[in-house]
Amino acid sequence: MNDYIIRATAANGMILAYAATTTQLVEEARQIHQCSPTVTAALGRLFTIGGMMGIGLKGDNDKISIQVNGDGPVGHMMVVADGKGNVKGYPLHPEADAPPKYPGKLDVGKVVGENGRLTVIKDLGLKEPFVGQAELVSGEIAEDLSYYFAQSEQIPCVVAAGVLIERDLSVKASGGYILQLLPGAAEEVIEVLEERVQNLPPLTQLLTEGKTPEQILQMILEGYELNVLQKQSLQLRCECSRERMEKALIALGEKELNAIIAEDGQAELVCHFCNTVHRFNRVELETLLAEAQGK
Ligand code: ZN
Repeated sequence: MNDYIIRATAANGMILAYAATTTQLVEEARQIHQCSPTVTAALGRLFTIGGMMGIGLKGDNDKISIQVNGDGPVGHMMVVADGKGNVKGYPLHPEADAPPKYPGKLDVGKVVGENGRLTVIKDLGLKEPFVGQAELVSGEIAEDLSYYFAQSEQIPCVVAAGVLIERDLSVKASGGYILQLLPGAAEEVIEVLEERVQNLPPLTQLLTEGKTPEQILQMILEGYELNVLQKQSLQLRCECSRERMEKALIALGEKELNAIIAEDGQAELVCHFCNTVHRFNRVELETLLAEAQGK
């Protein structure tokens, strides 16, 4: 089954719900970044939540990014998503790891760190992007995003994301959901939902059993008249290109380009998001220098 997200409403539009499967997406990210198991779980949760937060975006160029800056060994992590299910991101130190909490339970909070900050940037094509911030609560990602929604955007919500790792360190299952109360909804609904979620089997178990995003939301929102609005495929995509890298080099300016040509005679630009290496030899750099001089 390919990865996808659904966006739905329930309780006559009082509840906005998202659910996603992200197994392939997270496995691909793990391979690109060579992540340790604990970082795979941390980044996977962030990818899952980022993908769901992106799906509501309307404009072609609208983007949402989430940055997590904790005091754990992974350093910062980032994810960027759009409204078309394209997701990309990276951990600063993919090799970082932490001992398991107990056998079989990865300590995501330890590798991320429980002290630090979470920043959400929504670029909606306006002059200024929307920037929201909150302190980290536990470094467990879903809990941190839940706190962020409550604090920064005043939205009561339930956020869950889980990644299960195979013995061979590949991703066995990954996914998540977000339930948000819209303005006008009775506050106690969130307590009902929290209780239902607590009584469910662990999310990774549901995903491993092959439960779909639709089925998971139906289990949580039984009796609330779930209405699926949108189903969107989800994929890892980076739009970096040689042309973009050329522009970045030209933008460095004449002095800087001259220094690179004199000192290294070549340039290697690595994209943080997809680890693609873009190489430029001396002749190519000299062409770009001529363009920079022409400006
Ligand atoms: Zn890239």
